[in-house]
Amino acid sequence: MSDHLMATYARLPVTFVKGEGPWLWDEAEHIYLDALSGIGVCGLGHAHPAVAEALAQQARTLVHTSNLYRIPLQERLAERLCRLAQMERAFFCNSGAEAVEAALKLARLHGHRKGIAEPAVIVMENSFHGRTLATLSATGNRKVQAGFEPLVKGFIRAPYDDIEALEAIARNTPDVAAVLLEPVQGEGGINVPSAGYLAAVRELCDRQGWLLMLDEVQTGVGRTGKWFACQHFDVRPDVLSVAKGLGNGVPIGACLARGEAASLFTPGSHATTFGGNPLACSAALAVLDVIEKEDLLARATTLGKSICTGLRESLGAHPALREVRGLGLMIGIELNLPCDGLVQNALAHRLLLSVQAGRVIRLLPPLILGDEDAYQLVSILNTVIREFAQACAPEPVND
Ligand SMILES: *Cc1c(COP(=O)(O)O)cnc(C)c1O
Repeated sequence: MSDHLMATYARLPVTFVKGEGPWLWDEAEHIYLDALSGIGVCGLGHAHPAVAEALAQQARTLVHTSNLYRIPLQERLAERLCRLAQMERAFFCNSGAEAVEAALKLARLHGHRKGIAEPAVIVMENSFHGRTLATLSATGNRKVQAGFEPLVKGFIRAPYDDIEALEAIARNTPDVAAVLLEPVQGEGGINVPSAGYLAAVRELCDRQGWLLMLDEVQTGVGRTGKWFACQHFDVRPDVLSVAKGLGNGVPIGACLARGEAASLFTPGSHATTFGGNPLACSAALAVLDVIEKEDLLARATTLGKSICTGLRESLGAHPALREVRGLGLMIGIELNLPCDGLVQNALAHRLLLSVQAGRVIRLLPPLILGDEDAYQLVSILNTVIREFAQACAPEPVND
């Protein structure tokens, strides 16, 4: 552990030195199956040749000029993303939090335009939107906020997947400008809303003149088996944030918008030094190319189903298993016991995953995972869960 790093992470005792596809190598040449993809980032796996080639070539040509000048690669990427998301305009930044931050600034502008002096944004319980002051204030997790008060004002908290709660806020609160939510909650424990929920939120936003802002930082760019998770629900938001999977590890995020929201920013109202530079855009364009050419959306759907089925079958009616759920390659395995230490056990079996909300094992495997790799993932995880439950159980578990 370095004395010269701020202690923001309790890091696992492992150092990776190279990667290829879904595999990572540590210093002792042990090989790990990466079922987390750098937290939903490396959707094409590690060291993807097309991304590496695009980066190498762009690095030799032009890395950065700033947004004071035209950037053709940024214009191309904006056009591509807008077509894929059925949006109209993009603002590029460097992270998920910045993409959400831009969305929140759009909500404030929208509110002021409607004559609301202090516009509010409805946000959800168990949500996650980032670690800047505004995005942690929007986040529905006290642990993320504790110690950073005063929080940014102007957020109204509502339960997720509860349209009645939003209707009640609409009746009682005149100052709302927007609703911000994840189409599937990621950090909050892989929570998939019921079928009609997003469409009902869309309808309510239309009726109220609220912006519907979807945080697709984790769900976007093919993760759930569509380009964007909202497409599963046939819902088009006014504002959509993306980041994680967009650059396969090269930091890039985007806030997409359409309609009135697309022209709220004007010269001087928002800016970034690095955002959308030629290097980052070349990586993102390569990512979109590969997803398209290799038909990885369909692959994510197929893989997600086979992994979930495999887990349900291998774990059967194991008493520790509450539910296997997810959308595409965003998979949650909820246990009915606290999962402290399970990540370490999985690491000992050379499998990388995370635990969310205390009891939900989260898998965000790469979209390029092979059938044999998926089979291995299920098999190792089955062992990890059984061993973990056995060690936790006061009496022997019968299975
Ligand atoms: C990860 C995440 C963020 C924050 O992204 P950073 O790049 O860490 O700033 C925001 N929203 C969602 C839904 C996320 O999953």
